[in-house]
Amino acid sequence: MVGAGIAGLGAARVLHEAGLEVLVVARELGEASRVPDALLNPVRGKRGSVAPEAEEALEALWDFYPRFVPVRQGILRPVPEADRGAWKAKLEGRQIPHVWLDEGLYLENAGWLETTPLLHRLAEGLQILYAVVERLEGSTVWLRGGRRLDCRVLVYAGGASGAHLIGLGGRFTPGSVLVTREHFKQARSYGVYVAGHSLGGSYLPHQNTYALHQTQPHEVEWLLSEAQKLLGYRPEFGSSWAGVRYRLDKHYLKPIPGGYALTGFGSAAYFYAPLYAERLLRRLSEGSW
Ligand SMILES: Cc1cc2nc3c(=O)[nH]c(=O)nc-3n(C[C@H](O)[C@H](O)[C@H](O)COP(=O)(O)OP(=O)(O)OC[C@H]3O[C@@H](n4cnc5c(N)ncnc54)[C@H](O)[C@@H]3O)c2cc1C
Repeated sequence: MVGAGIAGLGAARVLHEAGLEVLVVARELGEASRVPDALLNPVRGKRGSVAPEAEEALEALWDFYPRFVPVRQGILRPVPEADRGAWKAKLEGRQIPHVWLDEGLYLENAGWLETTPLLHRLAEGLQILYAVVERLEGSTVWLRGGRRLDCRVLVYAGGASGAHLIGLGGRFTPGSVLVTREHFKQARSYGVYVAGHSLGGSYLPHQNTYALHQTQPHEVEWLLSEAQKLLGYRPEFGSSWAGVRYRLDKHYLKPIPGGYALTGFGSAAYFYAPLYAERLLRRLSEGSW
């Protein structure tokens, strides 16, 4: 397994629990996955699109995360009155538990979690080699310094910063989270989101290649002005976190030479990781590896 973010650690944990021998190779524990608090949100954006396979993803994540860390239940989406009809139409026929309140849509089994304790808990007991991967050649992993690892099956879960290793293209979207002094136990999301000590959102355009991101002053201003609309005030913050999302099309598990790529979840990595970890296990159990 190349990568120790939520994609790699989630999958490694599921494979390990199923009795498979897994070696995780990573530069560090998480990267984009160190976004301080992660929403687990089945109804996306300002248009209220219901995520593909949201029902399966919700079931898988509730079976998985609470075994490691607390998951705070519920997300409030303060949808403007004028848009509620369109949102209701999108939810029709879907099995996404929700209730409409005066304030907006309350998603009862959506939620959020703190990522750092989760990554550490998932890593416990796994075999992890901290090293830099320079090249993948079939199922051979070449490390900095010339060392090579020959795997039975390679799983690439190296996220945005490692994407050049597999050459699948995709979109890279930089973004930031302000670490607020206030603690938001109730997650709210419309335009931007607040949850825990996080105020985050998607503001900057996509790019075709990965570049390290640092929070820009205009991003801070945008986050605070959107927070004003969401909360009615601008929360105080002490620091910021910056990262890059990596988005492929909706097939997040792809065959590649030597194994699979498990990556490209965009802003929904924590939402889909448990479902795709199960799918990877199924593929490996069915396959002729
Ligand atoms: C502002 C912002 C807000 C977000 N909010 C949410 C949210 O609310 N909910 C949500 O689900 N997602 C959210 N995301 C997205 C989420 O953070 C990421 O998409 C996700 O964590 C990616 O996980 P990953 O495991 O694929 O990759 P990463 O966490 O980036 O992990 C990559 C791993 O690969 C390793 N690696 C990479 N290259 C190499 C190499 N050459 N050699 C060795 N190791 C290597 C790294 O060390 C790391 O261990 C947000 C992202 C941003 C930027």
